Amino acid sequence: MREASVSLSAISANVEQLRRLADGTAAMAVVKADGYGHGAVEAARAALEGGAERLGVADIREALALREAGITAPILAWLHDPEEDFVAAAEAGIELGIGRVEQLDAVAATDASPTVHLKVDTGLGRNGVERTRWAELFERAAALEGAGRLRVTGVFSHLANAGRDEDLAQVAAFETALTMADAAGLSPELRHLAATAGAIDVPEARFDLVRLGVGIYGLSPFDERDAASLGLRPAMRVEAAVAAVKRVPLGSGVSYGLTYRTSADTTLALVPLGYADGVPRQASSSGPVLINGERFTVAGRIAMDQFVVDVGNAPVAVGDRAVLFGDPAAGEPAADDWARAAGTINYEIVTRIAGRTTRTYRA
Ligand SMILES: *Cc1c(COP(=O)(O)O)cnc(C)c1O
Repeated sequence: MREASVSLSAISANVEQLRRLADGTAAMAVVKADGYGHGAVEAARAALEGGAERLGVADIREALALREAGITAPILAWLHDPEEDFVAAAEAGIELGIGRVEQLDAVAATDASPTVHLKVDTGLGRNGVERTRWAELFERAAALEGAGRLRVTGVFSHLANAGRDEDLAQVAAFETALTMADAAGLSPELRHLAATAGAIDVPEARFDLVRLGVGIYGLSPFDERDAASLGLRPAMRVEAAVAAVKRVPLGSGVSYGLTYRTSADTTLALVPLGYADGVPRQASSSGPVLINGERFTVAGRIAMDQFVVDVGNAPVAVGDRAVLFGDPAAGEPAADDWARAAGTINYEIVTRIAGRTTRTYRA
């Protein structure tokens, strides 16, 4: 048994809570990367249930998969291949983020008059049209809209989360972009800038819509504040059944490189999850594991398929459940604990869970 179980009611409740924190602003649930590892279709349905009105994904294939599953809510896809063919997306009613001026003509060529959201770079330095080309972007979009080739519904950007001053500088740049869009004759009804962190912390960035990703999965985007303090509940629990136990003497080496040696006669428990399943090898000798209500630490290197826990004299048996992370309110380690152990962020911990783990859903 290797399982990532996902609470759908937690996702719904997290959307409700985030909307409260964002003062009721309309929400797009971001379900890219297979719903941050939670399952895009199921996460999308749960988020819509919780009050999200729209969905966001990175690429068109992700958007089409949601449509094929029968999801009819508006979906925005914003990161495209250089040679992307936009016809299928336009015909499926997928809204298209425009991150390069050149994409406007490619999108306008579809004959399906797609709905677009123009993405401006207000300081993140990543996807989005650079400031020196905003006028060109808006004028070209307005011309194509006037010709009936596309419809501009949104203008958006993304925050760097570098601090309050930087956030507000991006808000100001975004307002400049909106003024320029207006001057070009565009009237986008959806202006959006904030993701989870901005939705909570930067009221000035909420505009018409917030794009909620990590928060809907019950994880905090902040280093200093955990999910519980935000009223969020982690949706994913990862666990496996202990596959073997053995008694070994003091001084026994454990796993590749023998980087861990037992400090007493002890019991070693084998957990059948490894880096092929998304457990970060960087958390060797540091990741936390809960077995029978007691917290232990990974002993030695995490391998491709398995790792070992030194459980001392605790009565651990084959088949007992080893929980890597779940809900700290239930005494389980948090994805944040694994993130710290691996020197990364909670986003990466949940998104990478895959391989041979079976995903299941619970209320
Ligand atoms: C991933 C992403 C989001 C969601 O970010 P979170 O920090 O997970 O809330 C929002 N907008 C864009 C453009 C993104 O790429």
